[in-house]
Amino acid sequence: MNKRKKFLRVVPEDINVDDLKIEDIVCGTTKCEDGFHCYSQKKSTIRKHGKERVCRECGVDLIDWERVHKNDINDSNFTFQQLETEIIRHVFWHTPMENEAILDALKKGKAGVRTHAHKLITQRIGKYNSFMDGRQTPMGEEIIVNYAQHATATCCRKCLEAWHNIPMEENLTDAQKEFCVSLVMKYVEERVPQISDESLSEDEAVKILENEYN
Ligand SMILES: [Zn+2]
Ligand SMILES: [Zn+2]
Repeated sequence: MNKRKKFLRVVPEDINVDDLKIEDIVCGTTKCEDGFHCYSQKKSTIRKHGKERVCRECGVDLIDWERVHKNDINDSNFTFQQLETEIIRHVFWHTPMENEAILDALKKGKAGVRTHAHKLITQRIGKYNSFMDGRQTPMGEEIIVNYAQHATATCCRKCLEAWHNIPMEENLTDAQKEFCVSLVMKYVEERVPQISDESLSEDEAVKILENEYN
């Protein structure tokens, strides 16, 4: 395997976005000429482009913010489509998931994953922590909620503010947490369509994994 560096900013022209793995990228990675931008904001973006909520690299704005910021779970397909114009979201929606992450989700079932998601959302983004923000959600590490949080921009308070218009310093309300958990669950159901409502035994889960994913 050829080793390459993480693309902290721009992906070189000769590398296809669909060949990127989660370890190749960070939140701020872009490939603007192929339509992959980054909307999470830094002070320097405003200085550079003179306005908020434009791509920090090229200054374009392709997002219907008014519609996305309604935070309407029934319009989540539109939101997900818009989110996929950022590389990090695109990669997390399409990257193959580790077997362990799928297996764990199958074993927990929807109810179990939902409980886990609620706990992780509360711990990681319930309150703003300036020291940890941007680093509190691991990139994969065998937990489906980690994938889901990056895919849905509920990974840190910076992404949550850009995409879901929730001010960084405010503590999340129960309704906001519920919204984040629902986005996570939409991702889980999309990526692991065989997940059932209730939990499964190890054997049952392994059987599904072997039949459907290998
Ligand atoms: Zn751009
Ligand atoms: Zn984030």
